[in-house]
Amino acid sequence: MATCEMCGTDRVTTFLSEISGARLRCCSRCIESNNLTVLERRVPSQTVTRPVSSKTKTYTKNIGKMEKEVARDFHIRIKNAREGKGWSAREMGKRLNLRLNDIQKTEAGVRPADNILEKIAKALDISLFEENVSEPERTIKTPSSRSMTIGDALDEFLAKE
Ligand SMILES: [Zn+2]
Repeated sequence: MATCEMCGTDRVTTFLSEISGARLRCCSRCIESNNLTVLERRVPSQTVTRPVSSKTKTYTKNIGKMEKEVARDFHIRIKNAREGKGWSAREMGKRLNLRLNDIQKTEAGVRPADNILEKIAKALDISLFEENVSEPERTIKTPSSRSMTIGDALDEFLAKE
């Protein structure tokens, strides 16, 4: 377990990654969200030796969290909302008890830890997560069925059952 050199999250498994020529030890979340090149992967021996049963609950919880998609323009939403409140990045850091550096990185598009994102979203009263669009909704929006009402679509949907 180590500290991610990109987002600053503590107690995470880090991998040596390359970011535009620079080498940093980053957590898997940063690697995934920034499409970083991983130079070295180490499987933590702890996880392998630990009994599966005791870990099951935590694992399921983590998967549930990952389904929550952070909006691609989360940093723009944060910056706009912050400026809307008339706060400087430094002032927001003081109010949220976050480092100025973390806020600057977040507004530059580096995704911080979930708890930091949620803290910011709550303070600025904004949503930073994408709503998952369900399949039936997408079908209604296609050009071929543009003239259909939601009621028609629902009837057709039910008729298929
Ligand atoms: Zn990270």
